[in-house]
Amino acid sequence: EAGVIHLTFDDGPNNGTTTDILNILKKYNVKATFFVTNTNGGSDSQIKREFDEGHLVALHTSSHDYSKVYASYDAYWNDLNKISERVERITGQKSMYIRFPGGSSNTISRHYSSGIMSTLAAAVESKGYTYFDWNIDSRDAEGKNSDQIYSNVINGLSKTHGNVVLMHDIKRTTANAIERIIQYGLNNGYQFKVLDKSIVCHHKTAN
Ligand code: ZN
Repeated sequence: EAGVIHLTFDDGPNNGTTTDILNILKKYNVKATFFVTNTNGGSDSQIKREFDEGHLVALHTSSHDYSKVYASYDAYWNDLNKISERVERITGQKSMYIRFPGGSSNTISRHYSSGIMSTLAAAVESKGYTYFDWNIDSRDAEGKNSDQIYSNVINGLSKTHGNVVLMHDIKRTTANAIERIIQYGLNNGYQFKVLDKSIVCHHKTAN
């Protein structure tokens, strides 16, 4: 959808930075999508808060360990189900939204299982899940500072299509950049929305 920004936060929850990001989203009444894991120590109450405040709680696998997640088809589902069950226990709803660790176009999975991304991309959809990649990378996972994260996001924005922004709520740099990103979007006529199943944002699989 043109002129819409979908902020997406991966790898949380995390007790410090996730809470700070939730506070800023609440201040501006902006809704975002959280692709959660079990790896960064965040509490159930943070996932509950994400859900209660109108954000989309989505699944990113439990371990986020490429060597485990992409070891085999069954290993992927076993890992995904662990985070899925946690989300369902906390929110009362089964989440049908997925982001693959590394994205669907990752090549690291080749080290563990040849062809698994093509198999999984088809399998998740056949089971009724929707998966999302991104079309703007904040590059916060690469150690960029808050000014660079802000620039990477706002320079990537377009009014001619939807904007799916990759960020990580475990990053202090991202927590420190997010208010300026939201202010820029609001001041420039963008709307912020959660992802939904009508949105297609897929990379081309490379394994
Ligand atoms: Zn991730």
